[in-house]
Amino acid sequence: MKYQAAVLREVGGPLGIETVEVGQLRPHDVLVKVHAAGLCHTDLETIQGSLVYPLPLITGHEGAGVVEAVGSSVSQVAPGDHVVLSWNPSCGHCYYCDRDQPILCEPLKMHQPKGELIDGGRRLKLEGGEDLYHFMMTNCHGEYTVVPEAGAIPVPREMPFAEASLIGCGVMTGVGAALNVARMKVGESAVVIGCGGVGFNAVQGARLARAHPIIAVDINPMKLEQARLFGATHVIDARDEGAAAEIRAITGGRGADVAIEAGGNEACFRLAFEAVRPGGQVVLLGKVNVDREVSFRWGTLMGEKRMIRSSYGNTRPREDFPMLARLFLEGELNLSALVSDRIPLSEINRGFERLEAGEVIRSVVEFD
Ligand SMILES: [Zn+2]
Ligand SMILES: [Zn+2]
Repeated sequence: MKYQAAVLREVGGPLGIETVEVGQLRPHDVLVKVHAAGLCHTDLETIQGSLVYPLPLITGHEGAGVVEAVGSSVSQVAPGDHVVLSWNPSCGHCYYCDRDQPILCEPLKMHQPKGELIDGGRRLKLEGGEDLYHFMMTNCHGEYTVVPEAGAIPVPREMPFAEASLIGCGVMTGVGAALNVARMKVGESAVVIGCGGVGFNAVQGARLARAHPIIAVDINPMKLEQARLFGATHVIDARDEGAAAEIRAITGGRGADVAIEAGGNEACFRLAFEAVRPGGQVVLLGKVNVDREVSFRWGTLMGEKRMIRSSYGNTRPREDFPMLARLFLEGELNLSALVSDRIPLSEINRGFERLEAGEVIRSVVEFD
């Protein structure tokens, strides 16, 4: 079987639309017909080379579609099921899976950076037989993809595909930061630093937890206005001197109970510690190149503050993805405002340009 996909051959891009050949499905494989796939900053980091992956690969790690075929041992999904892809398939029985930290699953951590599926193999080739690597075990910027069974999560059929696709990365990371990582309680105060695809979802995660106030911080006035759509009660333009003082003024002079950082730069990391109260929690979601050093004013780290760096909102996808889909269908979770534009696969490079320019929250590739 063959299909069309966006292939990154060298750092810097551009992506080319190429023909891909699917190999034999192994027992725990799921072949998914992709209906929608978002363009995320992690794709962009890979295109630009700050996240290093073996090439060539197919980009895309937040996707939704319909199961087309399954391997002989697959029991959790069946052809015809509507699924959201998870880039954190886990083995379920390693050291970390046994300790309820599937994000650190050992086979996942071993094989994902090598461009392999969780069993260490690869299933896709470029037309003509050239090697092709898997990206985040999802590689969904194509008409089809092969994923591990643990990475195909059924959701209700009423879920529209574009909105569903976003659950698989930015929504889960942001909402999960508030609900699963910080475990926010009703009435706690939250500050979210950096308003993009993840930050907006941290804002609405805080709203779902009935936090108050919910303070959104960014340097882009348009994004601050958008943050109100997702539940921000206060917004602060970080270009103004004294953002931390403003946050303290709104939170009884102490700082926020929970600070969620989603900006991915040093200024945001530092502000998160300045903005949280003594004894409060800092959740860092953003990232910089892993070899970079980041400095902090020591005093901001004191006062019994707790810090956790989280990649995927402490998700257990099989529980969380259907829960988020249900919240959307009940009108509690705003996903539609995250979809800035819908594009065909042929316009994917333009979509990434718009993401880099900060013009969009999410462009979503839609397939027929
Ligand atoms: Zn992502
Ligand atoms: Zn594991």
